[in-house]
Amino acid sequence: MGGEQGICAVCGAPANLRCTGCRSTFYCRPEHQKQDWSNHKSSCRCWSIQDSSSLGRHLVATRDLERDDLIMSEGPIVFGPGAHTDQRVCVGCGDAGVPIRCPGCGWYACRLSCNGLLDDNRHGFECKLLEKARIIPRCDILLPLRMIILKKRNPKRWEILSALQSHEESRGPGTEAHEEVEAVFQQLEPILQAFSMGRDILSKVCGLIDVNALDTNPPEGSAGIYQTACLLEHQCMANTRHGFVLDSKGRPKIVVKALRPIKMGEHLSTTYTHVLWATRARREHLLATKYFSCRCERCKDPTELGSHLGTLKCPCGAGVILPKDPLDSGTEWSCDLCPGLLTSQEVFELTERLGEEVENVMASATKDRLSDLHSRLLVLLHPGHQHCIAVGHSLIQLLSPEDPKKLEICRRILETTSILDPHGGRLALYTAVALRELSSCPGEDTITHLNRAVELLRHEPARSPGDNLKKLILSEL
Ligand SMILES: [Zn+2]
Ligand SMILES: [Zn+2]
Ligand SMILES: [Zn+2]
Ligand SMILES: [Zn+2]
Ligand SMILES: [Zn+2]
Ligand SMILES: [Zn+2]
Repeated sequence: MGGEQGICAVCGAPANLRCTGCRSTFYCRPEHQKQDWSNHKSSCRCWSIQDSSSLGRHLVATRDLERDDLIMSEGPIVFGPGAHTDQRVCVGCGDAGVPIRCPGCGWYACRLSCNGLLDDNRHGFECKLLEKARIIPRCDILLPLRMIILKKRNPKRWEILSALQSHEESRGPGTEAHEEVEAVFQQLEPILQAFSMGRDILSKVCGLIDVNALDTNPPEGSAGIYQTACLLEHQCMANTRHGFVLDSKGRPKIVVKALRPIKMGEHLSTTYTHVLWATRARREHLLATKYFSCRCERCKDPTELGSHLGTLKCPCGAGVILPKDPLDSGTEWSCDLCPGLLTSQEVFELTERLGEEVENVMASATKDRLSDLHSRLLVLLHPGHQHCIAVGHSLIQLLSPEDPKKLEICRRILETTSILDPHGGRLALYTAVALRELSSCPGEDTITHLNRAVELLRHEPARSPGDNLKKLILSEL
């Protein structure tokens, strides 16, 4: 790489071989790098953990990062079936195909020879507990159980785990979270008793899961908690992306990379909510699940960075209706051209009602129904509104390339994703689908669009829908 020189960390000779992890340590030759690794690995990082009263512990870049630079890669402290997964997964390895039952506890398993099934550090120990307590299979109790076992058998790892945020102060009686803990408690009570643990530990465990667990893929349908990756703070426009690879023991290792160039001193962030939800929905979701109010640049901007994901059309026919203060859920909405005003409640009711209609039509989508709904939405909503984008995305896949509507909607969707996810961190598949549809329209630069789609899909996990689309497009190119 471009002529930069340093001093070899081992022998002091001039050196131009740079450690690719931290890019701040030099070596004169590969042998010296290898020799120094056991010593260097503890300081080889591009981030540091910082603490503040408003954010808690968070991560800050300690050098400039380029796009795709590796930020961290670590195995989970604990992982198991995600609480809300609708799939049955193997209790040994997390695989989705579960034709058999574990001979010990009777829960679902992929095969008798599954590595995780007999391993005492994976399913082996919990199997005996499940069998003894005669607990019937329920995805949502396995991860809490694994955390309780961790506390019992591995206090050091429990200490790392319990240092993460659990927001129990926001999860008391009367909340949905409290009821969920109760449901898990009823299942796990005999095991907790055997461990001399009370209900309070389960409140903590469920809080840790809800606040920190990341959905993995592979294995699909599982969730993991990570020592450092869980310190990534939320931004509606994040600067990292992550994926998972299975380590030698079949556990999902998280791999976090820079989504775009990041400057030294910048906070490292990820997104804990849906990128294509408008500000009000995102902020309510974050408040309900992560217990904080986002105040990022996107949330602060009434137009959501010009995407107009929440913007309405004004009956005056010329103006658009925007929130006066997007950070206030009770704010008035006003037209940018006439004196027209709507209350927050009116906007809420309108978008909810249309949202229900969108959901109904999408459930049995036909070209005519989608097309009709899209036209009706355009009367009330900005064409960039989240409902128009959602219906449009289904519609373009049914319209013929000759229909001018297809071209128009494709372009609108691509404009939206280029604003809200310019580097394909979250919407790679979504954007690639629109690019492929656009590429079929007359007069479009087919090859450029398809190449861009393939580029966006380069990080999709093997055999995922994104990976399948990438292969399909490559066969079409
Ligand atoms: Zn040297
Ligand atoms: Zn290094
Ligand atoms: Zn298995
Ligand atoms: Zn078992
Ligand atoms: Zn935000
Ligand atoms: Zn107006």
